[in-house]
Amino acid sequence: MLHLKAPSDGGALSATEIEDNFADLHPPLSATQAEVEAARCLYCFDAPCIAACPTAIDIPRFIHQIRTGNVDGSARTILSANIMGGTCARACPTEVLCEQSCVVNKTEGGPVKIGQMQRRAVDHLLAKDAPHPFERAPKTGRRLAVVGAGPAGLSFAHRAAMLGHDVTVFEARPKPGGLNEYGLAAYKMVEDFAQAEVAFLLGVGGIDIKYNQRLGEAVNLDTLREAFDAVFLSVGLSDASALDAPGSHLPGVRDALGFIEDLRQADDLAKLEVGADVVVIGGGNTAIDAAVQAKRLGARSVTLAYRRGPEQMGATKWEQDLAQVNGVIVRHWSSPVRFSGEDAVSSATFRRTRLEGGALVELDDEFTVPADQVLLAVGQKLRHDPLAALERDGAKIRVSDTFETSASRVYAGGDCIRSGEDLTVQAVEDGKRAAHAVDAALKSNGAAH
Ligand code: SF4
Repeated sequence: MLHLKAPSDGGALSATEIEDNFADLHPPLSATQAEVEAARCLYCFDAPCIAACPTAIDIPRFIHQIRTGNVDGSARTILSANIMGGTCARACPTEVLCEQSCVVNKTEGGPVKIGQMQRRAVDHLLAKDAPHPFERAPKTGRRLAVVGAGPAGLSFAHRAAMLGHDVTVFEARPKPGGLNEYGLAAYKMVEDFAQAEVAFLLGVGGIDIKYNQRLGEAVNLDTLREAFDAVFLSVGLSDASALDAPGSHLPGVRDALGFIEDLRQADDLAKLEVGADVVVIGGGNTAIDAAVQAKRLGARSVTLAYRRGPEQMGATKWEQDLAQVNGVIVRHWSSPVRFSGEDAVSSATFRRTRLEGGALVELDDEFTVPADQVLLAVGQKLRHDPLAALERDGAKIRVSDTFETSASRVYAGGDCIRSGEDLTVQAVEDGKRAAHAVDAALKSNGAAH
């Protein structure tokens, strides 16, 4: 848990205070701590922790390998199921996944610290700068295109490369990693881990990433379908949903993911602008990441407002607690009505809400809080135009059981499809499974180009 440093002189935080505030959220376990923790595992035969992991990592096996001193083997067990096991160990909500299912969850010591041991194993292997642990199958001569170098795209690319295909990734931004690089709180991904993980992943060979290649601008889907045997879309949900409230155009009102991106890409956090009174609107992990980081950058007050109650928040209980222990004021049952200010936002007004017969209703009861910065975390949506020809499943791309879209030889995975929670670990699983599906289709010639 972080220990918040408040401004030492009543003004802005010093560079040292900010550095302390953005230190690693979960400092890694030592070798001894990991072995002691491994000894708590019961090595369940029908391990519920495996079923609770979207990538089905063989958790008792990797824990046993740590216990017997085979830490490299442990990392290979993890990475064979989840090539981004390092990021997932840092950012996965383990408290609602593997650790919630752990059979010793209710004991005094709590669940086995699966996430922290996973980090111990993967970090140990990556720190060695050893040869990549997985080999490629003989080359197939097939060429695959991937759109988007986020978790789903990179997972697809790695597995497809292992299966012998040559992969070209088209990434809109100047760096790879997607939300791992641009969208997670800085204290979860210290020491440029997202880039270290991508460098490791590319060590398998056969993957070429081309940057600044936005779909619909530098590349388009029809051209990729012509040039490649199959295309995998892992474009995420790149557009922020708008909030239809008066004053949302005012300077000082912005998208929370843009704020997090600026923070993650800043060379010097001490120079980053943060409001004195920050209001964050939303109930998911992005809202929590934005609120806690605003507080840790030195905001005097941070209010997180959500239209419904704590039970309905997308953020886990652990994340909600993290916000509160960091001094974020959480106001449930509060719907934004308007933002006010002359040249820039200076306040935010909310109407209280409640559930009536299952429906959310706004009450005739308003309150206003000061706000010189408002961060909107009210959801992300698919960028429509470059993919307009593809059938939709609600607001996302429709795919078959084998991840194929309504266009032949075009597959999709990650946040842009409806496959599970919008989590890194689910995106990694989508990419892995889609790579096997494409491989099977290519072998049967059904998707041969
Ligand atoms: Fe070990 Fe818990 Fe998994 Fe059982 S459920 S194998 S005790 S981590």
